[in-house]
Amino acid sequence: MTSNTNASDAPIRIGIVGMGKIARDQHIPSVLANPQFQLVAVASRARTSPVDVPVYGTLGEMIAATPGLQAVALCTPPQVRYALAREALDRGLHVMLEKPPGATVGEVEELAARARELQRALFATWHSREAPGVAQACEWIAGRTVRRGVVTWKEDVRKWHPGQPWIWQPGGLGVFDPGINALSIVTRLLSRRLFVTRAVLYVPANQHTPIAVELALADGAGVAVDVELDFRQSGDEQWDIRLETDAGLLALRGGGAQLEIDGAPVVAAALAEYPRLYERFAALVRLRAVDVDLAPLKLIADAFLIGRQVSVEPFEE
Ligand code: NAP
Repeated sequence: MTSNTNASDAPIRIGIVGMGKIARDQHIPSVLANPQFQLVAVASRARTSPVDVPVYGTLGEMIAATPGLQAVALCTPPQVRYALAREALDRGLHVMLEKPPGATVGEVEELAARARELQRALFATWHSREAPGVAQACEWIAGRTVRRGVVTWKEDVRKWHPGQPWIWQPGGLGVFDPGINALSIVTRLLSRRLFVTRAVLYVPANQHTPIAVELALADGAGVAVDVELDFRQSGDEQWDIRLETDAGLLALRGGGAQLEIDGAPVVAAALAEYPRLYERFAALVRLRAVDVDLAPLKLIADAFLIGRQVSVEPFEE
């Protein structure tokens, strides 16, 4: 995978774009802790940075002023991701995309094609797939027959998304923004392709994206997975996936932090997803490889295609 030359062993010179919640909470600490990377700059419209590196107002300014920049992590809302990713790829950089990888399926397919053409790494991350219980859940479920699934993903939008108006704008996904995390895990766990058979989208009268969603998914063998997403949760969040199989009940709780089989704990660990994402990104950069799985985003696109929209009471933050 990597050669033994000094060049490929040197840290990857990376910049981070968009100094919002996820960049500050996860990306910056993960990059600083990983010797395979050197954080050399950030791009921020607000021109702020929690770390002492040069700060530029735009990606273009950052690229122009940072010789030897090799990679960027894009931590902006999805609506502006394509233009930034395209600019970065065209300027010869390797690119990590926060989830969801874009605002549409088509634009991400275009990015993947462009990255392959230019031989640059493109990583569409799904952080929840790196949750502690997911790998073992995948091992346990392999070879077992899934009969039915239930996904319950509920959180208080005021607690988890304060000051994020983009989430209510077209392309911002509303409750699908956290809900896509659940779908990223389910599409990893189930071996057969899932598709949407029914969707109800509850959209506040003054917003563009759903505050709650009911989804019915199925696979080609007739296995049904019912999904309930809700931003109107008060109190503790509930991020659970339950799969009934011929050999017992698998439950992933806490966004994948805990795995239980028939009620008995198998894995219980703190979430440490982003360090694992950066390990993978380093490997992809060394290989100049593309890792883009669009299955979770396609489920949401299809939910918008066939979903019944129900107007509900206005949402004010
Ligand atoms: P956020 O707190 O709103 O931060 C996004 C940042 O992107 C802004 O602070 C802004 O930073 C920059 N930005 C650039 N163009 C923008 C635009 N047109 N509108 C708004 N901001 C713009 O959002 P976030 O929670 O970090 O989420 C960013 C992405 O990460 C989303 O795709 C989200 O799904 C994903 N994510 C979030 C979390 C989480 O827990 N929050 C977890 C996993 C993944 P500057 O002013 O510095 O440019």
